[in-house]
Amino acid sequence: MDKKTVRDVDVSGRRVIVRCDFNVPIDDQGNITDQTRISASLPTIRYLRDKGAKVILMSHLGRPKGEVNNKYSLRRVAKRLGELMGTDILMADDVAGDDAREKASKLKQGQVLLLENVRFHKEETENRPDFAKSLASMADIYVNDAFGAAHRAHASTTGIASYLPAVAGFLIEKELKALGQALVNPKRPFTAALGGAKVSGKIGVISSLLGKVDNLLIGGGMAFTFFRAKGLDVGKSLLEEEHIETAARALDEAQRKGTDIVLPEDIVAAAAFDNDARRLLVDADGIPPDYMGLDIGEKTIGVFRDIILKSATIVWNGPMGAFEMPNFAKGTRDIAHAMAMCSGTTIVGGGDSAAAVMQMGYADKMTHVSTGGGASLEFLEGKELPGIAALMNK
Ligand code: ADP
Ligand code: MG
Repeated sequence: MDKKTVRDVDVSGRRVIVRCDFNVPIDDQGNITDQTRISASLPTIRYLRDKGAKVILMSHLGRPKGEVNNKYSLRRVAKRLGELMGTDILMADDVAGDDAREKASKLKQGQVLLLENVRFHKEETENRPDFAKSLASMADIYVNDAFGAAHRAHASTTGIASYLPAVAGFLIEKELKALGQALVNPKRPFTAALGGAKVSGKIGVISSLLGKVDNLLIGGGMAFTFFRAKGLDVGKSLLEEEHIETAARALDEAQRKGTDIVLPEDIVAAAAFDNDARRLLVDADGIPPDYMGLDIGEKTIGVFRDIILKSATIVWNGPMGAFEMPNFAKGTRDIAHAMAMCSGTTIVGGGDSAAAVMQMGYADKMTHVSTGGGASLEFLEGKELPGIAALMNK
């Protein structure tokens, strides 16, 4: 990595402000339902405490739209973080107001303070310099460890780096290493599996992978736009008319660039978008007019599995079907299982696909499961992430 990390600065006795990604899912009762992102931030926080830093943490949570809203308070995160670390985490009542300043200035070495949700101020997402400056004024060093927010140019991810020495935390370092290794010099065969709802969200990643990967497996809702591009009827399946042409071009370009695009041969089709709807297993060219494809079929699973098991590098983004409904989760589960069995480098990026892999118990079997959905997608697209670009070069 060509960016400086926490190892490259002396943090002892210094106030270090760390942008974390504590944007965890929270249920109606206010309980944290998945603490992966909190756990993922521990190595950096522990390191800073051990080195005698005064640690100030900040994050966003949900979309409070620039207003103070108790529903999105980070207090519950402070509590969970404290339990995980076995130490008390101080909580500020505001983001960069009197209470935050007062508590930040009184921090002792090894103490940790969490600021309130940075998105309580609209200046955060607007990346306003005055707001970034007031965040910066509480600290001596800035650490970005919020990989999940690194594709956003906000005050706490990018703006603040103009006012303080800015370095990467261990999570960002780990993410960049894992994703970068896969892309920069991949062992072959190199396979990408793409799924998820829409072609439109993944055009960038599709076109950047053409010519780079040996195989591009396409499942999920986006497969049907490709089906249409090949002249197949898709019934009531998810279809983006305006992208049929895009899909056709990708198929064409793939052939010229030596990437094998593999589309599903069979489909689990349903009479409605409902777990209990009537289901049919049909060939790709046999989707009835009043049915919608909600998962890949058995033959397809077999084809995808064989390719995955023979691959030396696999990147997966986007579920193979509407996996939230158990009756349409098999394709996603079996692909996750095949990746888990593969002896090559296996990388899962994408919010929903990462959640699926976690939920199905395969996360430990992957080389890397990215904590950043949008960020990992943009990285795979070859885009520069503003939150990384803003950090000091080595
Ligand atoms: P990721 O977050 O991993 O990048 P996406 O956000 O692109 O993935 O897509 C995830 C969504 O795609 C899931 O909610 C899933 O239900 C939906 N999906 C997958 N296959 C289909 C399908 N055949 N029809 C409708 N929705 C689908
Ligand atoms: Mg998603």
